[in-house]
Amino acid sequence: MEGDIDKLLKLQEIDSQIDNLKKLIETIPEEINNLEKEKEELIFKFDKLRNDIRHLEALKKEKELDIQTYEDKILKIQSSLEKVKTNEEYKALLREKAHAEETIMELEDEILNLMEEIEKLKEEEKKLKDKVGEKRKDIEKAIELKKAELEKTKEKLDQLLKEREEYIKTVKPSLFSKYEMVRRKRGGKAVAIVDSNTCTGCFMIIPPKVYSELVKSKKLFTCPHCSRFLIYQGD
Ligand SMILES: [Zn+2]
Repeated sequence: MEGDIDKLLKLQEIDSQIDNLKKLIETIPEEINNLEKEKEELIFKFDKLRNDIRHLEALKKEKELDIQTYEDKILKIQSSLEKVKTNEEYKALLREKAHAEETIMELEDEILNLMEEIEKLKEEEKKLKDKVGEKRKDIEKAIELKKAELEKTKEKLDQLLKEREEYIKTVKPSLFSKYEMVRRKRGGKAVAIVDSNTCTGCFMIIPPKVYSELVKSKKLFTCPHCSRFLIYQGD
C-alpha cells in the first residue's frame, strides 16, 4: 500500500508535468507565429528586390524613349537648317541642336548607370533565389514540426488529466484539499523535500523539534514557514 507521503509525491509529480505541458501549449503557438513572421519577411525581402529591378528597368526604358525623342528633334533641326534665311535663325537652331545632343549624352550616361545597378541587383536576386527557396522550406518544415508537437502535447495533457482524476480518488479527501490549497498558494508546488534540516520549498530551517519528530516518526509534517508537505527521505 502506498502511504500518504508517497501519494503526495506522486500527485505532485503528475501536477508538475501537467504544469509544464500547459506552459508548452501556451508557448508553442507563439513560436509558430514567429516562424511565420520570419517566412513572410524573407518573401517580402525577395519581392522587394524583384520590384526594385522592375522599377529600374522601367526607368531605363523611359530614358531610352527620351533619347529617341531628342534624336527625332535633331533630325528636324537638320532639315530646318537647310531652309533658314537669317543668320540669327541659323545660330538659334545650332544652339538647340547642341542642347539636344548634350541631353542625349547625359541620358546615355544615366542609362549606363542604371544598367550597372540592374546588373548588380539581378546578381543578388540570383544568389538570393536559391537561398530563399531553401530557407523557406526549412521554416515550413519547422512550422510543421511545431504543430505536430503542439498536438502531441495536447494529447499528453489530456491523458495526464485523466490519470490525475483517477489518482486523486485514491487520496484521502482531507489530504487532497489541503494539498490543493497549498499548491494554489505556493506557485504549484505543495510538496518539498527536506535537505539536511532545511525545507527546499522555502529554504528556511525547520525548527529542531519538528525536525527531530519528522526524522523519528516518518509521519507527515508540514513546513511551519510555507505550509508545504515535508518529505524526509532519510540519510
Ligand atoms: Zn518551507
